[in-house]
Amino acid sequence: MRTDITKQELQNILKEAYETFRNDTGGKNADYIPYLSRIDRKLFGIAACLPNGEILSVGDCDYPFGVESVSKVMTAILILKQYGAETIMHMIGADATGMPFNSIMAILLEKNHPSTPLVNAGAISAVSMVQPVGNSAQKWQAITENIKELCGSETELIKELYRSESVSNHNNRAIAWLLKSYNRIYDDPELSLDLYTRQCSLSVTAKQLAVCAATIANGGLNPVTGKRVFNSSLSPKIVSMMAAVGFYENTGDWMFSTGLPAKSGVGGGIMGVMPGTLGIAAFAPPLDGAGNSVKAQKALRYITDRMETNIYSSQRVKIRECAATVNAS
Ligand code: GLN
Repeated sequence: MRTDITKQELQNILKEAYETFRNDTGGKNADYIPYLSRIDRKLFGIAACLPNGEILSVGDCDYPFGVESVSKVMTAILILKQYGAETIMHMIGADATGMPFNSIMAILLEKNHPSTPLVNAGAISAVSMVQPVGNSAQKWQAITENIKELCGSETELIKELYRSESVSNHNNRAIAWLLKSYNRIYDDPELSLDLYTRQCSLSVTAKQLAVCAATIANGGLNPVTGKRVFNSSLSPKIVSMMAAVGFYENTGDWMFSTGLPAKSGVGGGIMGVMPGTLGIAAFAPPLDGAGNSVKAQKALRYITDRMETNIYSSQRVKIRECAATVNAS
C-alpha cells in the first residue's frame, strides 16, 4: 500500500486511464430524457483537483454536460448547512435503498422516510426543504449559488435539457405527489419538482466536478477559490451518503471494488471523493443499466487501483508537493 504519489505520476495515471478506455464502446446514452440521447457518445474526460487547487486533466474536461444526479450531493450539502445533520436524518434519512434512483417501490416500502437525498425521492424532498420555503426564485438562487461555490465557478442552465426533462418527468411527478401523501415533502410538490428538474439541467464540466469533489475531500474549503463553503463537520456526513448510495443498486459492488465514495449522474458524469487526498471526476455519456457512466466507472476504478487509495484502508495517500492548506474550520 503506497502512502504518497507525485503529481507527475498522477498525471500519467490519468492519461493511461484515458488511453485505456477511450475506445470502449460499452453502454448507451440515457434515452428517457431526449436531450441526453443526442449527446456525442465519444466524449470522454477525466479531471483531478489537488488540495492546493491545481487541476490535472485529460480529454474533454471543458465540455459542459448535464449535472443530473450529481447535483443531489450539492443540494444535500445546502440543506445540511441550512438545517444541520440531525434534522436531515430525521426529515429525509441517509439510508441506501438498494433500488433504482427513480424507484417508487422504495418510497412505498419506507413511507415515513425518503431514505437519502441522493435518490430522486430524497432529492425532491431535499429541494423542498431549501430555504426560503415557498419562494421559488430565492430557492433557485440559493441552489445555484451553493453549486457555484462548490464548483468554484458559474454553472449555466442547459435550457434545452430543462425543457426536454420537464416534458418527460412523469415518474418524478408521481414521486413528488406520493411524498406529499406521506408528508415527506416540505414545500409545494410542483414547485419542488420544477426546481429539482432545473438543478439537474445545470451544466458542469469534469473540471468543475473535480473542484466540487476536492472541496468535499478538503473538509468544505474550496481549494481553488480559498473560500470555506461548509463546515468541516459536514464532510463525513456527505461522504457517507455517497458511499452508501452513490451508484444506486450497484453501490455495494462499486465500493467493494474501488473504495471510492462517488456519485453518478445520467448526464455521464461521476464525481469521486478521496477524503484528505483529492477530488476526481470523469465524464462519458454511455451508461450501464443502473444509470452510471460505463467509461467513467472504468477510468475511476483504474485510477484508484493504480493510486492504491481506498477509503476503507488504514493508509491515506498524499500528493507530494501539495499539502492541504487548512483542513478544519
Ligand atoms: N434528472 C434525472 C432524473 O430525475 C436524474 C437521474 C440521475 O442522474 N440518475 O431522472
